[in-house]
Amino acid sequence: MYFLGADFLTQYFVMTEVQFKANVLIVEDSGCWEWQKALRGNSGYGTLKIKGKMVGAHRYSYELFKSLIPPGLLVCHTCDNPKCVNPEHLFLGSNSDNMKDAFSKGRLPHLKTAARKFEKGRAPHNRKITVEQLIQIRNLLKQKMQLADIATTMHLSISAIKDISAGRPYRLE
Ligand SMILES: [Zn+2]
Repeated sequence: MYFLGADFLTQYFVMTEVQFKANVLIVEDSGCWEWQKALRGNSGYGTLKIKGKMVGAHRYSYELFKSLIPPGLLVCHTCDNPKCVNPEHLFLGSNSDNMKDAFSKGRLPHLKTAARKFEKGRAPHNRKITVEQLIQIRNLLKQKMQLADIATTMHLSISAIKDISAGRPYRLE
């Protein structure tokens, strides 16, 4: 008999609700379920491995307790706590919803300045992004999300994300 450990199990088997909840700490005041296992980079989002693939714990929670996430949609937090995986604190949103949510919660203080700076830049003619995309990318960069993950989330090339990260000018749509 071999002892394989919890990490082995999560890598090869989809977790049940009970197994999933064994990884959270419930915060009494807020009702948040804070993920106690791996967090992604410094962004604070919980992650788990499902069949060898890293999955956002909040996304997994949404699918486990609520419903499947339609392609292209994000799982957002009403509690603004990236560690939280309480399905009652999660809602589906588009990039644009996430943006409005971030604004309303004051997470994007330098937005207007940033947008102006990019408008004035000498942008390569073949690269256009919307203001919303720019805001979203800057927000994700600020949360220290990995460049490759941002590229995937935003459906942009990693070189585009690198350029934005390095402050190279972009033309806004
Ligand atoms: Zn929460």
